[in-house]
Amino acid sequence: MHDLAAGVKIFQQDVFPAKAPLFAGLAGRHRPTTLFISCSDARVVPELITHSEPGELFVIRTAGNLVPAHAPGGDGVAASIEYAVEVLGVSGIVVCGHSGCGAMTALAEGHELTALPMIADWLRHADASRPDEGADDGADEVAAWVRRNVLAQLANLATHPSVARALRRRTVSLHGWVYDIATGTVEELDPATGRPEPVAP
Ligand SMILES: [Zn+2]
Repeated sequence: MHDLAAGVKIFQQDVFPAKAPLFAGLAGRHRPTTLFISCSDARVVPELITHSEPGELFVIRTAGNLVPAHAPGGDGVAASIEYAVEVLGVSGIVVCGHSGCGAMTALAEGHELTALPMIADWLRHADASRPDEGADDGADEVAAWVRRNVLAQLANLATHPSVARALRRRTVSLHGWVYDIATGTVEELDPATGRPEPVAP
């Protein structure tokens, strides 16, 4: 395993003292303005990509950045969404997909998942990301899945009552992003057309 204790030591010796006033303020205050939903993939680091400080992003990470649609009973993802919107009052929610996503690769390439029943069950939340019958995804099928999936998860997100209420009140905005690991590019998808535009032109 990567030496986590050595990392903690560096944090305590170098990083924490340099930001001591920030951490002192954060000890009694939690007021992030953005809910950032990304894949659990180790290569996607929301704070790094957005150059955010501790306290600025409320983060949910799931395999494939999937957001189950609202359903009775709730779960960890639904509870975290409700907390971010109703209690923390975030004004923006980003669903961020990424290049080379393992979950989207499994779907695009039709991987055999019989021996991975939890993953197979979880990936059904990406059913709406399937291409239309006869559609051509072009050369990069995985990239096409990644983009469709971000839009599908934004739609799932909007089924959560807290998000639906905030959208009606216009107190929250939803954004679909795709991060490219090889180049550092971040694009925002037009929710209507799926067309990508650079987040920071
Ligand atoms: Zn991924």
